[in-house]
Amino acid sequence: MTDARLRRPTERICERCGRREVWEDGSWRVAVDDGERRAGSVYCIHEWDINGTFLPIEEE
Ligand SMILES: [Zn+2]
Repeated sequence: MTDARLRRPTERICERCGRREVWEDGSWRVAVDDGERRAGSVYCIHEWDINGTFLPIEEE
């Protein structure tokens, strides 16, 4: 049995400003690397690269 819950993306990175977010407790949160928030630019229209981990269509 395939667990569809594992198909949700758990991390996304903005290709424009480098903002990194992680999926936690039902919402996106800014990732923290070595105590530094990877918030990127507040003026950025974020373009998320989710590295192909997001597969909304279940496989047979
Ligand atoms: Zn951005």
